[in-house]
Amino acid sequence: MYGYGGYYLGYGGDWMLLLLPALLFAMYAQFKVTSSFNRYLRVASRSGYSGYEVARMILDRNGLHDVRIEPIGGNLTDHYDPRSKVVRLSRNVYNGRSIAAVSVAAHEVGHAMQHGEGYLPLIIRNNLAPIASIGARFVWILILLGFVVSYFFLELGIMLYVAIVLFQVVTLPVEFNASRRALYQLENFGIVYSDEIGSSREVLKAAALTYVAATLVSLAQLLRLLSLTGRRRN
Ligand SMILES: [Zn+2]
Repeated sequence: MYGYGGYYLGYGGDWMLLLLPALLFAMYAQFKVTSSFNRYLRVASRSGYSGYEVARMILDRNGLHDVRIEPIGGNLTDHYDPRSKVVRLSRNVYNGRSIAAVSVAAHEVGHAMQHGEGYLPLIIRNNLAPIASIGARFVWILILLGFVVSYFFLELGIMLYVAIVLFQVVTLPVEFNASRRALYQLENFGIVYSDEIGSSREVLKAAALTYVAATLVSLAQLLRLLSLTGRRRN
């Protein structure tokens, strides 16, 4: 790994020490979210509501009658689309009557509630989203060009990477807050009984962990990039 690889490791090699645990943590988080989701997908919620029913109930109780709910393909693809005001739930969640289904449905409604009341971190996140998605597409090409063609591309690449990291950081309060709202609604409206709420919390916590892990990976990657450019400048 040393030799001419030493040149490679020499750049940002110190930060590899940070990136590696972050990547391992990300793998663990991914495993954790899949395993707890699958586990509680098999545990029926005693109130017996489906994910769709729970989402509709919480939306209506919070005056969000204009927010629609649609099924979507795939697994763990559930999300709230603020542009069309639609909560999209994967089949397992939409039709499911499990703890996992009602917890995820309530979490997505949590985002609709944030949108409805203009929750600041969500507004910031939505404004950063287009830059972050363009960034994700071009950042590595720019960085590569930065090393081969001109330093200018490297700086541009790093600026885009900073936008991606900011987007991920501001996503954290948005996600934690949506889960907090979900747990409150589930418990207070008797959708999930008090002895089931711990299971709901476990599902939502595991999901939040993946966002924390992704942020740590990007942050470590950014530090590595910065150390690379620092050495190039010297
Ligand atoms: Zn969310």
